[in-house]
Amino acid sequence: MVNEGTFHIGPIRPPSEAASLLIQVTRGCTWNKCKFCNLYRHTRFKAYSADSVKRDIDVIAAYAEEIEEYRDGAGWDLDGLNGRLQRFRDDEARQCFYMVAQWLIDGGENVFLQDGNTTVLSSGRLSEVLVYLKQVFPQIKRITSYGRAEELSSHSAEYYAELKEAGLDRIHSGFETGSDRVLAMINKGTTAEHEITAGRNVRAGGIELSVYFMPGVGGRELSGENAEGTARVLNAVNPDFIRVRTAAVKPGTELYEDFRQGEYCLCGDDDKAREIRRVIELAEGVTTQLVSDHMVNLLQDINGNLGSERDRRKMTARIDQYLGMPEADRRVFQLLRRTLRAYDLDDLAQLTAEQREQLREAVREEPEARWDEKMNGYISRFI
Ligand code: SF4
Repeated sequence: MVNEGTFHIGPIRPPSEAASLLIQVTRGCTWNKCKFCNLYRHTRFKAYSADSVKRDIDVIAAYAEEIEEYRDGAGWDLDGLNGRLQRFRDDEARQCFYMVAQWLIDGGENVFLQDGNTTVLSSGRLSEVLVYLKQVFPQIKRITSYGRAEELSSHSAEYYAELKEAGLDRIHSGFETGSDRVLAMINKGTTAEHEITAGRNVRAGGIELSVYFMPGVGGRELSGENAEGTARVLNAVNPDFIRVRTAAVKPGTELYEDFRQGEYCLCGDDDKAREIRRVIELAEGVTTQLVSDHMVNLLQDINGNLGSERDRRKMTARIDQYLGMPEADRRVFQLLRRTLRAYDLDDLAQLTAEQREQLREAVREEPEARWDEKMNGYISRFI
């Protein structure tokens, strides 16, 4: 009889956790009201018991033991593994097995605990899971999870120190912005004060902090404030990472409804680029790594340490290169990037003069008033 065990897997993880094993310790989001997000809108929040998560870990361990038999010297018997996958009758079990196999093939080192807000669990329950996970898989090097700023701010540095001791290495948190006006507008349910307390306590407990910044989420009206508020929080917290996640206003969300009703004005790519530049410019006394690791970002190669003058100059120079181009070329690049035909500005140089002229002509034909909406439509498909 073949093993067809299943374990819970949630819908999302940060791009930096692409090679991580996903283990669901909570399902859904405790807040579920951010205007730009409808990910868990129809999911009732549930916190799994430590015993339930440990049972999932046992299923993963049983699969891992079986998968290890397909190790072939320094590589893997991929045909054998594929054959095993074909023998599953249950699709969910096949998906679970596939994820464990992929994790081990990728090194089996990192784990991401899902879903939206795992620190809603008591440190005791979360620690029990972390300790068990490390006992079962001693090779694990990094365990990370998501946390909401408001929830994170309710815990002391000691709470985080306990979790660090148990094995939690990093918390990802969608701050999105440090502006109270923007936070209220998107109904994030948090304030800049929550973000600062949360960030300082997480870091004081010895856990790495990775926060997300959404250029453009304040719309055109609050664009400057979005950048300046974010820089204020960044400087107060000095997170390990600030990850750029360009705002995409997705149909079906409340923010999209606001846009349709004329109550929210979409921010264009140029303003979003200026916001990133402003955050870099205002960063002071921090050693944060700015990371652009999502395809929603126009300028994917803006990466560097905000504590390094050299990196800051390199990043702002790249943004200035983009902003300094004629408008038709900026739009050509936006179009190519949003339709996955360009990765960075250097790809523009690969175009022949004729191709470039054709593309300029195509963007000139687009109605001016609908351009930002069109680009927003493209990036909304990436999330
Ligand atoms: S806290 Fe995160 S998961 Fe929850 S509604 Fe907001 S963006 Fe979505």
